[in-house]
Amino acid sequence: MTQPIDTTIYTTITAAIQAEAQRILSGGDVTAVIGYAAARRKGSVQPIVITDATAADKLIFTPASLNNLALYLTKAKKDIPKKGKIGIIVKGCDLKAIIGLIGESQLKREDLYLIGVPCVGVLASAVQPATTLTSETIAPKCTECNAHLPTGCDYVPDVTLPVEPLQAGKYAAEIARLEALTPAERWAYWKEQFAKCIKCYACRQVCPFCFCEQCLCDRNKPQMVESTPRPAGNTAWHIVRAMHLAGRCSGCAECERVCPMDIPLNLLNRKMAQELKELYDYEAGFEVNDKGPLASYEEKDDQSFIK
Ligand code: SF4
Ligand code: SF4
Ligand code: SF4
Repeated sequence: MTQPIDTTIYTTITAAIQAEAQRILSGGDVTAVIGYAAARRKGSVQPIVITDATAADKLIFTPASLNNLALYLTKAKKDIPKKGKIGIIVKGCDLKAIIGLIGESQLKREDLYLIGVPCVGVLASAVQPATTLTSETIAPKCTECNAHLPTGCDYVPDVTLPVEPLQAGKYAAEIARLEALTPAERWAYWKEQFAKCIKCYACRQVCPFCFCEQCLCDRNKPQMVESTPRPAGNTAWHIVRAMHLAGRCSGCAECERVCPMDIPLNLLNRKMAQELKELYDYEAGFEVNDKGPLASYEEKDDQSFIK
């Protein structure tokens, strides 16, 4: 039988973030706090923006706190400086997105008050009936997390994480399985996955790094990527998406979570991240103002690949 993972510290974290949100809102340090609140369905959680200190007790942190809230900063970026400093609850994986967005000049660190949450993991799905976190129900990203304890935040609740969080590496295992296939078998696997895509673009809408006001893939004069869900256009979309996110993706897995067709999008992201680690010893989301190897160019770079 699968043992539950100890998430009792989440109760302590909830009390701590409520107190901190109350303090910074009532003191005028921030104009709003973006966090998680209980949703209508028992055990589920939804994003919330609170602007009043009296509402701080609505904030919670549980294994169902799935959303990467950095998305709301991307969408609100133009209004943040006008409205004042924003507080935001961040898990370690979400913090990587914020660090990336600061590096890409989408956000300013001084406009944010980061409330980091120590995190042993979250559930794989918001709709699964299980509310207990186990090695079966945990999100695959959490099995290979290297950011359980966010660093560089303005406030982090003082709790001790249960030692030895899971490190089973579900993506790494799946990448290894695919790499053991022949190229033809691997291509057949991805063709089958891409064929399922209905081009709803939920993966793009939920990604904090898809912040372009007009996506290249929506252009029709000239059309860059076929917009209807047909095999050639689907493959083009998935390759454009993976390349555009390479070296930037924080691994939050939100794209994969929201995909209605169960396409393993974060598997592609993780493979790209693995390549960047091997080729450039680079890992996204740990350093601000780091352009990343795919955004840097020097004349002396090896160009043999385009011959
Ligand atoms: S990847 Fe790490 S920080 Fe993110 S939800 Fe999982 S355990 Fe928490
Ligand atoms: S591509 Fe997916 S995993 Fe990467 S940052 Fe965007 S939503 Fe998160
Ligand atoms: S969310 Fe899934 S189905 Fe929708 S566009 Fe993205 S990959 Fe395709």
